[in-house]
Amino acid sequence: MGATKDQKSGGIAWHPATKLVHEGTLRSQFGETSEAIFLNSGYVYQSAEQAEARFKGDEEGYVYSRYANPTVSMFEARMCALEGAPAARGTASGMAAVSASLLCHLKTGDHVVSARALFGSCRYIVEDLLPRYGIETTLVDGRDLDAWREAVKPNTRVFFFETPTNPVLELVDIAGVSAIAKKAGALVVVDNVFATPLLQRPMPLGADIVVYSATKHIDGQGRCLGGVVLGPKEFIEEKLHNFLKHTGPSLSPFNAWVLLKGLETLTVRVDRACASAAAIADFLAARKEVARVFYPGRADHPQHKLAKKQMGGGGPMVAFEVKGDKEAAFRFMNALSIFKISNNLGDAKSLITHPATTTHQRLSPEVRAELGIFDRSVRLSIGLEDVNDLMADLDQALVAVR
Ligand SMILES: *Cc1c(COP(=O)(O)O)cnc(C)c1O
Repeated sequence: MGATKDQKSGGIAWHPATKLVHEGTLRSQFGETSEAIFLNSGYVYQSAEQAEARFKGDEEGYVYSRYANPTVSMFEARMCALEGAPAARGTASGMAAVSASLLCHLKTGDHVVSARALFGSCRYIVEDLLPRYGIETTLVDGRDLDAWREAVKPNTRVFFFETPTNPVLELVDIAGVSAIAKKAGALVVVDNVFATPLLQRPMPLGADIVVYSATKHIDGQGRCLGGVVLGPKEFIEEKLHNFLKHTGPSLSPFNAWVLLKGLETLTVRVDRACASAAAIADFLAARKEVARVFYPGRADHPQHKLAKKQMGGGGPMVAFEVKGDKEAAFRFMNALSIFKISNNLGDAKSLITHPATTTHQRLSPEVRAELGIFDRSVRLSIGLEDVNDLMADLDQALVAVR
């Protein structure tokens, strides 16, 4: 292939920041410093025999970019190094990662237990899509270990959850739930987006599969969609690989390159966003216009002990309730100038969402209440601006709540 691996750790275990700059780099014969974008769909063989050998799997190498691509491979290798996972596959979006990791494993007659507090599209997959294929699902309160235990059936094949949850940052005990799944013989799939790969590592706690929307903090600058699934070799390189290869939600090499560049600055960005988020959570909690703040890093979070056990910090997201109704929440949002109104998250730009009328609009008010989402609830994704400017923006907008 002419590419050489850039691997010179010399046996010393690199810290995440170093891995994120160097791991997985493949250097072509031109010796480029920054990773190259291999924006090609197909590959040329030196002979018919070589093509045959590649297809038979007798010779390593690329065949078609729906199956694999060098820039995508670099992204996957860097994610593996960060997560400490044996294998990974990039996907076109986070939802492609979630749906493929479930569909490649499940079949008609299987049963899934899932936390009920999920990113909107994940909830659609579990609640609406899987049952259409004869895959039964049970939604549980993810915080309640007994609920997970009681939901298990003889045909339970997967446990699925995210933690912290979108949007109100409830936590699921990864080790506790994974232990119940192990006993049930079920695969544990964790959507680790809200914690970022830097603050929480589900695999050492017992999770089998970790999925990310790379659209969020991994890109981190609001540029492109992408996803990644990490897990054991047999699962990723057989089941998932064949599913992706033949159904086609491939990660574009260009997006893989954007994500690789995003990974280089991930520690710097996430550190900044988390420090600002912690300060902003404290700032909001002290304001009389604010009824309640949800931040896993604060001692008043109902699961703060669990946060300290399984997370390396409070994270880059903050949720809170204004004192008042939907109109008060809207007045506050409309008065902001730095915070942009957007349902996205994990951007350099600080963003605010009103979940009840956007991401969770599809759900009934009763179901929303069950999830802790009210007309007074808002969700912040903290970006990279100066924290003093962010607080000044919140400060002037809170006046509008009164
Ligand atoms: C954004 C997000 C997804 C979906 O990712 P896309 O890249 O938008 O497809 C899934 N889970 C969580 C928790 C997310 O935040």
